[in-house]
Amino acid sequence: MKPAYRRVLLKISGQRLAGEDGWGINTAVIGRTAQEIVDVAQSGVQLAVVCGGGNIIRGIAAAAEGMSRTNADYMGMLAGLINSLALQDALERAGAASRVLSALEIPSVAEPQIRRRAIRHLEKGRIVIFAGGTGNPFFTTDTGAALRAMEIEADLLLKGTRVDGVYDADPERVKEAKKYDEVSYKEFLTKNLKVMDATAISLCRDNALGIRVFDITEQGNLQRVIAGEAIGTRVGP
Ligand code: UDP
Repeated sequence: MKPAYRRVLLKISGQRLAGEDGWGINTAVIGRTAQEIVDVAQSGVQLAVVCGGGNIIRGIAAAAEGMSRTNADYMGMLAGLINSLALQDALERAGAASRVLSALEIPSVAEPQIRRRAIRHLEKGRIVIFAGGTGNPFFTTDTGAALRAMEIEADLLLKGTRVDGVYDADPERVKEAKKYDEVSYKEFLTKNLKVMDATAISLCRDNALGIRVFDITEQGNLQRVIAGEAIGTRVGP
């Protein structure tokens, strides 16, 4: 497979790592995901990955049950780091070199977030996993992913999720929901579409970073997207 891009950032939601379990880390799912990531990395594309933490804790949900939002958000970022370490382990078992760089400094398990170091790893063919989101509460991992994608000058931000694109309503609840093949940042924001949060979308809009939302649960889709196939939804100017 010939990659259509030089460097991409792949965001995986925490929920993906939980698989059918709905919570926590499903080792078989993370193993399959890692294998797909290694396969595309071997095609020569430089790959950075960001894992969400929603399979363990979401700040907003914990705050709704009475926890301090800030505290819950830091727990959410740590959840993303736990997922990142699990993914690194799975990538290594699949035969790829990878490095975890964390926005929250925990030097005994991850390197600090240093942009130039991340780029160096990518140039050497290592898969870079950015952990800890933006490092700040009141943000999401999607926003962290958009931020890191811009820092490393990625050609594209890939959002791998369990729906096959952006819809005008929640396809898991509304049967007639219509899927977009392409949608502009502006329409995404004015229609308040879901799948990615508005902060991430506006950051991408302001810096002209293209996004592709696709179903990562379907085997082979990651490879198709990296080969340049127009599956899922393209969010752009
Ligand atoms: N989070 C945060 N700041 C960030 C990234 C994440 O506070 O920059 C927290 C937030 O509480 C969020 C949780 O980490 O709910 C898990 O991330 P997210 O919900 O984005 O994970 P995903 O939906 O991708 O699994």
